[in-house]
This record gives sequence, structure tokens and C-alpha cells, in this order.
Amino acid sequence: MATNKIALVTGGSRGLGRNMAINLAKKGIDVILTYNSNKKEADHVVSMIQALGQHAAAFQLNAGDTRSFDSFIRTVTDHLKNQTGQSNFDFLINNAGTALYAPFIETSEEQFDAVYNIHYKGVFFLTQKALPFINDNGRIINISSGLARFTLPGSSAYGSAKGAIEVLTRYLAKELGSRGITANVVAPGAIETDFGGGHVRDNKDTNAYVASVTALGRAGLPDDIGGIVAFLCTDDARWINGQRIEASGGMNL
Ligand code: NAP
Repeated sequence: MATNKIALVTGGSRGLGRNMAINLAKKGIDVILTYNSNKKEADHVVSMIQALGQHAAAFQLNAGDTRSFDSFIRTVTDHLKNQTGQSNFDFLINNAGTALYAPFIETSEEQFDAVYNIHYKGVFFLTQKALPFINDNGRIINISSGLARFTLPGSSAYGSAKGAIEVLTRYLAKELGSRGITANVVAPGAIETDFGGGHVRDNKDTNAYVASVTALGRAGLPDDIGGIVAFLCTDDARWINGQRIEASGGMNL
């Protein structure tokens, strides 16, 4: 593991994070991934990455519980120290998250707090606590959403939390440039995963609506996203910094 670059992908057990983890491994990058409750799926992704010839491990993380971050970072860095002799890694991909669909007028403070903690506060402080262990010239990639650019009813809390990490990403790029660390946002459109109960994938009306407002005429697939994140971790992407890259097939243009 000593010579390979290493990525930490939150929420790598399913959906977009799993696709990112596998695409990173295909580029010769070792992967630490996290899951919240689905250890079995996470272990499956670890096996898939190992079959590609890369090192991989999975650890539990609740991305909305900042009090758990010190012990999570210790677990990851102890693991790396055992495996490689040093505690550092190269790429942090803040991907983990759950959906909330609720009209603004009905959104409770509990729902707001849950979304804010996972999608914004958790990203802020996990990145802060990971930073001493991210190698110089490393990369931070935050996963936002098309819903931070365009609006659909029912996503006021979620969309505004994603908007917050887009602004945060520019500040990270500015403040971490002195260490050669870049920070970028990837903003997927609606993608067919388990997200939000799998409604983009499983609800025919939703899927057809997404296709109808997308220039390329269909909903997105996990494979449309993972390779972009993997590319951002290559040397060819070294000059991309502080950018929002939307990958939505041209949704709501
Ligand atoms: P998904 O298929 O539902 O997978 C969610 C992943 O996040 C799983 O690995 C899950 O772990 C993990 N996770 C969920 N809640 C967590 C928590 N509280 N703490 C830590 N990990 C947690 O969702 P996805 O579609 O891949 O979404 C990934 C990211 O893309 C999210 O940030 C989402 O907002 C964003 N996004 C998705 C879409 C879309 O249409 N799918 C569009 C734009 C942006 P377990 O397996 O253990 O549950």
C-alpha cells in the first residue's frame, strides 16, 4: 500500500459512493470507504476493490454525528499506519448522505437538523479533522446536487445544505492552496440509486419527469458519476480547483 495513493470515500457502501470507490480502484488508488448501517454491502465493495488488485477497508461512520469523528479518524489513521507505516491519505470524498423530501412549510426542526448535520456540518468538521492527515497536494471532493442550482418543490432544507457545501468548497480551495490541496464539488443530477427510497429509479413518473427535463433524455446512472470523481483524483485534473462540476446530463438548462 506504501506507493499507492489512498482515497477515503464516505458512504461507499452503495449508490454513487460505491461507484466512485470502484472507479478509484480502477485507477490504481487504494480505498477506505465508510458505511452507516450496511456493513454487508460495504464488505462486498471491499471485496470488489480487492479483486481489482487494490487495498480496501470499510469502517462505520455516522456522517451527522460530529462527536464520533475523533474516534473515526483515529480508527482510519491507525489502520493506515498498520498497513503502510504512515497515517496519511490523499483524497477525501465527502459523499455520504440521505434524502429529505418535505415542503418548506412542513419541514420540522428535527428534519432540518438531520439534513444540516449530515450534508453540511458533518462535511465541515470531518474535513477539518481529516485535514492533518491529508497529504500535501491532496484533493477534497464534496458531493452536492443539481438542486443547489435549480429548484424543485420539497428540497428547501436539502438543497440549501448542498448550496452551503458549494460555498464551503471555494473557501477550502482558497485556504488550502498553500498546501497544494485542491477542493472541488461534483453536483449530480437525479441518479438511479437507493437515494430517497429509490424513487428516481423505481417510480416511473419521477423517472419520466427527470428524463423530460434532461437534455440527454434520461435519468442518470451511478456509472455517470464515479468516473468523474476518479478523474478529479488523477494528475491530469491537478489544475481544477474551487470548481462546481455538475453532472446531470443537462438537467433543467
Ligand atoms: P444512496 O444510494 O442512498 O447511498 C447512500 C450512502 O450514504 C450509503 O453508503 C449509506 O450508508 C451512506 N449514508 C447514509 N446516511 C449516512 C449517514 N448518516 N452517515 C454516514 N453515511 C450515511 O445515495 P446516493 O444516491 O449514492 O447518494 C450519495 C450522495 O450523492 C449524497 O450526498 C446525495 O445527497 C448525493 N446526490 C444523490 C443524487 C441522486 O439522485 N441519487 C443526486 C444528487 C446528489 P449505508 O449503506 O450504511 O446506509
